[in-house]
Amino acid sequence: MGETNTPELEKYSLKGHKTSWFTRKLIRFLSDRHMRPSKPESVRQALPKSPELKSEILALQNFQADWIKTNLNLDPRKRSVKLDNINFYPSEIFDTLPDANEDGDQNGYYSQGTWEIGIRQQASQAATLEVLAHELLEGLQGQVVHMQKRPDTGVIRVRQNLVGYINKSKRRAILLNEMVNEMMNIEILDDYRRAQGGKDYLTDINIAYSESVIFLDMFTKEAAGRLGKTAKELRFGLYRGLLTNDFNQLRFVAEAFGGSKALIDLSIWEADNGPELRTFAAPNFGLNGYDKKVNDYFTGQLVTLFENTQVKCDKAAA
Ligand SMILES: [Zn+2]
Repeated sequence: MGETNTPELEKYSLKGHKTSWFTRKLIRFLSDRHMRPSKPESVRQALPKSPELKSEILALQNFQADWIKTNLNLDPRKRSVKLDNINFYPSEIFDTLPDANEDGDQNGYYSQGTWEIGIRQQASQAATLEVLAHELLEGLQGQVVHMQKRPDTGVIRVRQNLVGYINKSKRRAILLNEMVNEMMNIEILDDYRRAQGGKDYLTDINIAYSESVIFLDMFTKEAAGRLGKTAKELRFGLYRGLLTNDFNQLRFVAEAFGGSKALIDLSIWEADNGPELRTFAAPNFGLNGYDKKVNDYFTGQLVTLFENTQVKCDKAAA
């Protein structure tokens, strides 16, 4: 019975528009014909994918989709990035790709322009797959197509859209989206590790946005304590908001800390800024022990996130 109640996350979102059956068909036609991007040039330089790697990618995608369905009551399968659009590159080639040149330490991307996931080959297969798992989740936030009517001309166009949290100036709150995405990624990979003994993509790996994830974990715990809720409830709300563009999932911040401390208003979410988290945000929200936990993580000690998820960084690479 529960099965039929799981809302499907459409690749073609028609939010806010009244549409007929014909219009929906037309949008699908236009989207498929005219918005499916051509393959980027760089794909020719990608490493070949072994049959084992292909099945591991599919296993990861399936596990993520099942996890989201079970825990968030959303079915994201329609948004899954296709295997053909997932590519791995040698490190020196990765750095030359147009989608990877934003900063030097990027290890993967999901390109909204080409619908491609590109991954930098890491020292270990486990580290490569941790990055892949993150980008697979970003792909679920990317392939949303919607209809837009231009107010001046009345012309209806099919547009691609991103979901996630958007700040007041209508820009994406990039770091917040990344943090929530990586937090969900770690939580799913921890369950994956339990379900598939030996597939450990969280030990001796430098998780992305680690300082920020440690912060957001402590932050949700502190908020939950103040509100008499569980941290898990708040985290899962954040994940749902990320996948459905639901800004209301951030309301707990104002409820727990007061209106002036609204999460989305803080400029720290716009940049990957560890020092600001330490000096400003952590004391401001009463997060005692943040410094110690970050230090523990970067000195290669086992650190517990959420309820009982253990992560350990690769000290040699940190
Ligand atoms: Zn990312």
